[in-house]
Amino acid sequence: MQELRNSELPDFIVKSTLGVSFIAAVVLTPFAFLSFFQDRYFLGITILLILTFCSMNVWFGLQNRYHNSLNLFGALLLTVTTALALYQLGIKGSYWASVAVLSFYFILPEKQAWIINAIFVAAITPIALYVLEPQVAFRFFATLLAISLFAFTSTREIYKQNYLLTEQSITDILTGLYNRALLQSSLENAIHQNDRLGTDMTILMLDIDHFKAINDQFGHDIGDSVLKATGEFLNNAFRASDMVFRVGGEEFLALMLNTDINNALKIAEKIRKEFVQLPLIPNHIVTISIGISHLKPDMDWKQWMKQGDENLYKAKSNGRNKVVA
Ligand code: GH3
Ligand code: MG
Ligand code: MG
Repeated sequence: MQELRNSELPDFIVKSTLGVSFIAAVVLTPFAFLSFFQDRYFLGITILLILTFCSMNVWFGLQNRYHNSLNLFGALLLTVTTALALYQLGIKGSYWASVAVLSFYFILPEKQAWIINAIFVAAITPIALYVLEPQVAFRFFATLLAISLFAFTSTREIYKQNYLLTEQSITDILTGLYNRALLQSSLENAIHQNDRLGTDMTILMLDIDHFKAINDQFGHDIGDSVLKATGEFLNNAFRASDMVFRVGGEEFLALMLNTDINNALKIAEKIRKEFVQLPLIPNHIVTISIGISHLKPDMDWKQWMKQGDENLYKAKSNGRNKVVA
C-alpha cells in the first residue's frame, strides 16, 4: 500500500475545534458577566479572551480552516484561566479543570494535546494543593487523571479510524495503488506547483497490452493476479514522491513531479523493458504500452491527461509494447 499523503490535518480536528469552540462560547458567556458582576475583573478579562478565541475558531471553522498557533495560544489561555478560577474560587473553580483538559484533545493535534495536558497539570498542582483540602485535592487529581486518559484513548481511536478510512477511500483494493479519488486534486496541485515554480511535471499513461485476451485465455483470476503484480511492480518502479494511480481496469497513471520529458522517456523505456521480464504468466509474455505527457503552460488537468491518452493510443497503433512522447 502506498504511503498516505495529504494527511497532515485530519478533518476531525477542524470539525471538533469548531464544535468545541461554539459550545464553550455559549457556556462561558454568562460566567464572563458573573465575574465582572462579582468584581473578579482579572478572571472576567481572561474569560472574555477565551470567548474571543472561541469566536475566531468558529469563524475559521465555518470556512473549514484551522489555525494551530491560535489553538495552542487558546489552550494556554485556558490553563491560565483555570488556574486563576481555582485560586480565586477554590473547589467551585476546580470544576472547570476537567472541561479544560478534555477540550485540549479536541482542539489540538494528538502530541500537542499531551504536552499541553502535562503543562496544565504542572501549573495547576501547586494551586490545588494550596487551596484545596488534602482529601479534596486527592479526588481532584484522580478525576483529572481519569479524564485525561479517557480523552487520550478515545481521540487516539478516532485518529486511527480516520486514518484507516481515508486510506481505504483513496486506495485501489486489488493493486494497492491510488484509485481515482485523489487523481484530479493531485494533477491540479502539480499544475499549481508548475505555475508558481516552473517545476517540470510529467505523467505516464500505462496500459497492459491485449489484457482482454489474457482474461479470455487464462481466466479472470490470472487476470487479477497480473494486475496485482503490475501494481507491486509500478509501486516500486517510481520514486516515493511520484504517485501511481489505477485509473481503469488495466490502465495506470504515474504522476512524476520534477521530471522533464527526457527523464520521463528514460524511465518509461526502463519500465517497458522491465515489465516484459516480469514472471507474470508461465510461458507467456505480457507487455505494456506507455504514453507520455509533459505539462505545458495553460494546460488544465484534463488536457494534460488527454495528451497522454493520445500518445498511449499511438503506442497501441504503432504495434504495442512501445513508448510514445
Ligand atoms: P489493448 O492492447 O488495446 O489495451 O487491449 P486490451 O485487451 O488490453 O484492452 P480492452 O480495453 O479491450 O480490455 C480490457 C479488459 O480488462 C476488459 C476487462 O474485462 C478487463 N478488466 C477490467 N478490470 C479488470 C479486473 O479488475 N480484473 C480482470 N481480471 N480483468 C479486468
Ligand atoms: Mg489494454
Ligand atoms: Mg485499456
